[in-house]
Amino acid sequence: QFGIGAHYTLKALKDLGFAPKKVRTWREQAARSLHVALSRRRGGRQESSPAPWPERPIARLLAVWMSCSVGGPGMRLLESSGDIFFTESAGSNHLTSGASKLLLPIFVEHDRAAHAERQALLHVTNMILAGQNEMEDGRRSDVRGEVRLLGVHTPCISCLAVFCQFKAIFPNVDLQISFDDWPATRQSLLQAEARHSRKRRKKSIVPVDILLQFSSNFDRATTPKDLLNYLLTMYFS
Ligand SMILES: [Zn+2]
Repeated sequence: QFGIGAHYTLKALKDLGFAPKKVRTWREQAARSLHVALSRRRGGRQESSPAPWPERPIARLLAVWMSCSVGGPGMRLLESSGDIFFTESAGSNHLTSGASKLLLPIFVEHDRAAHAERQALLHVTNMILAGQNEMEDGRRSDVRGEVRLLGVHTPCISCLAVFCQFKAIFPNVDLQISFDDWPATRQSLLQAEARHSRKRRKKSIVPVDILLQFSSNFDRATTPKDLLNYLLTMYFS
């Protein structure tokens, strides 16, 4: 990802007025939805042995969560409590939509048109304009509301430019951008997984067949310690 780093990106978002004021109210739920979506996407040979989370971000796993509540005269209220957008390869229909000519990406080292952040804003722009691209001086000041984004990695400079173009078209839509740098996202994915597997282990019970085998192998003189040892060897062998 070509960017200016998490620190300066955060500063840029603040200076541009895109930093959320009350991030806690929605970020947690957004992060959970992203975790579920990434876990489905990560791949691996089977569910029991998924591919490890890569240390460096890979295009396939770059995603954003977006919610919105936007309205204006002559349009029906556009509301979403949260959708996930992935960085798509060419062929995504957002990339050829009307909005794609309004929110232009920047070419830096490679094509960044398909980035998840842009996909999300193309989607909402298309929904708002609904095919009508009539604008005074390229603006739609009559459209009001709120759009929130949470990314799993620091937005690149092309996506920062897309945020600015969106704001220029819809100056009265409050655009709020939040993100985690990929290592932080990865860390919380690993922590969530560890919590999940601890819970699963707690729930497990001794299978009946092991108990039956035990009772046929030991007599009444067996102590609880024997039982425990037996179960441990059966269980972990
Ligand atoms: Zn980007």
